[in-house]
Amino acid sequence: MIYLDNNATTRPTPAVVEAVTGALNDHWHNPSSIHRPGQAARAQVELSRGKFAQLLGVRPRELSFTSGGTESIDLAIRGLIGAFLGSPQRSKPGPAPLLITSAIEHSAVRDLAAELERRGEATVAYVEVNLDGTVDPDSLAALLQTNRAQAPARAAIVSLQWANNETGAVQPIEAFHQICRDQGALLHCDAVQWIGKCPAHTPALLMPLTVTHRHREDHSPTAVLPCDLLTCSAHKFHGPKGVGLLWARAGVRLRPTLLGTQELGRRAGTENVPGIIGAGVAAMEAAAWIADASAISRQAALRTRFENAVLAACPASHINGPTDERRLWNTTNIAFPSLEAEAVLLGLSEAGVCASAGAACSSGSLDPSPVLLAMGVTTASAHGSIRFSLSRSTTPEEVDAAVPIIAKVVARLRRVMPVGS
Ligand code: PLP
Repeated sequence: MIYLDNNATTRPTPAVVEAVTGALNDHWHNPSSIHRPGQAARAQVELSRGKFAQLLGVRPRELSFTSGGTESIDLAIRGLIGAFLGSPQRSKPGPAPLLITSAIEHSAVRDLAAELERRGEATVAYVEVNLDGTVDPDSLAALLQTNRAQAPARAAIVSLQWANNETGAVQPIEAFHQICRDQGALLHCDAVQWIGKCPAHTPALLMPLTVTHRHREDHSPTAVLPCDLLTCSAHKFHGPKGVGLLWARAGVRLRPTLLGTQELGRRAGTENVPGIIGAGVAAMEAAAWIADASAISRQAALRTRFENAVLAACPASHINGPTDERRLWNTTNIAFPSLEAEAVLLGLSEAGVCASAGAACSSGSLDPSPVLLAMGVTTASAHGSIRFSLSRSTTPEEVDAAVPIIAKVVARLRRVMPVGS
């Protein structure tokens, strides 16, 4: 099989597989136990936390392990809202906090926002999205300014992704962070598709920074991530499934959603020790790969070569999302208007190519991707859009072999359902 579905999940590397299987044999003990093997498991968990701290350029104590990206996102958003609702300054019932997000977020954010609104736990506002799938920072600034002009202003939480899982669109996260700081809002960044593929720090962000929030100052030289909370997930960069991370800047208050003692009281439950050990190995391998900028350029060029070849071989196809550098190096989302994505995917799978239609969790449904529709992509194009996503180990031979297969499947379906029907 030619696997071009790496935004859904990635293959664990041999070193990750070895680390996980070794841990199942050697570190199956409870890391909260006092005895020696329990403490050996604890040491391994802390070693992994340190590796993630290195990948992100933050302090280990600011990181909590969870069961994945979805849980990390839930803890970030509901934890912030819970901390606000339980805050001692809030003596009498006031307006629910304002949660600002976008309609192109992963369903882990989108569905949570809808549920919080339905339960009256947050008022939700949506920033504007451009046709290329990027978010307009001015629309974020406008929403926050409007909120501040109200009396009383609501506590504002912003949740925006760093890179989109369907189109690869990279968002201006540093601009979002600046706006949030200016307006006294906290920014959570869903970085599940970014971390492990791209550097967590741009050169500008490596400068020492003093972060001033409405209620606190942070002079930490390591506090340079362009947000206040960040979530990521190991299975998106060749680690095991079921291991996520939440980073919260020192001083950010969160009310845990699972009560207990583990993870400094932020996330209860016995840690997934083998998964966490494997994730630490994946983090170090990812950091080493990212450090070589030429590796990213090489894979980006491979993606572009693949994309151009598919566009040339399939008349009437076009790209959804940005076509410039504001796109993840590994992703291309190609529309084959008037075709049904499910039929294309089944044809590709039969012929040995794995790809996806939008988010993996919505495949199997005949509905077009809500992300593409929110960008303003037509229904006909959204119905026939396929996401191809490379990994750092995808080879030129694989992508070159995939192109004629895609062209053949699309041509066969076109004969059944011609363009414009
Ligand atoms: N956020 C984004 C942008 C994603 O792409 C995904 C997974 O596809 C998630 C969150 C959820 O992560 P997990 O699968 O680890 O729960």
